[in-house]
Amino acid sequence: MSFSGYNHDQLISYNAISTTLEKLPAEQIAGLKKRIAPYLEFRARVEEFYQHYFRNICEQSCFATHISACCGFESIIIFFADQVINCIMSNPDQLTGIVEILEKPNRSNHCVFLGKSGCIWQVRPITCAMFLCDPAKQTLFARSPEAEPVWRELQQWEKDFTWPVNPVLFDELERYFMDLGVDVPSLYFHKSPGLLRLKARAGINAHPQPGSRLHR
Ligand code: SF4
Ligand code: SF4
Repeated sequence: MSFSGYNHDQLISYNAISTTLEKLPAEQIAGLKKRIAPYLEFRARVEEFYQHYFRNICEQSCFATHISACCGFESIIIFFADQVINCIMSNPDQLTGIVEILEKPNRSNHCVFLGKSGCIWQVRPITCAMFLCDPAKQTLFARSPEAEPVWRELQQWEKDFTWPVNPVLFDELERYFMDLGVDVPSLYFHKSPGLLRLKARAGINAHPQPGSRLHR
């Protein structure tokens, strides 16, 4: 199997982000951490929900049989901001582990980031965190109906960070790195025709001037 374009795109993003972060002064890193704090709080709530409601279902359905729809694909959607947040929250060894995996061909039939003890990301991509298969949801919502509105609330909350009909974190993080000279294929909030159309319809400027609140 050859070195995939997917791995290559992931690799150049990770390298660009970590190189940029290494050069940033401490106060800029502190500013980034402050900016992503509400998102990390949201992710903690998603994790609590998963542990409380879904873990047992997933263990019985998939982990025991090692047959899982989660992590079973080679090329999941990963946003640039997912990578930025994971870089900020990872130590150098953890980042080296990711880069080393991306430098090799994926010879497995599952996601390249699935290690022996699960996902090797510290803050998994949002697409993964918010994926729950339909059979698992049907089982849970039949057993614990009170979980369904909580799940809907979490789905709505996610949009505060990722749905660019308002200025959202995932868009801002791209802009922040673009202003620092980063240009990689995974800048979807600034390159994907679908997301650009969504932003245009909402009146969100696809190319605001440098100096967003992340820089302050
Ligand atoms: S969400 Fe569904 S596919 Fe994924 S681990 Fe749970 S039961 Fe398995
Ligand atoms: S990034 Fe992590 S959580 Fe997402 S599919 Fe890959 S191994 Fe699974």
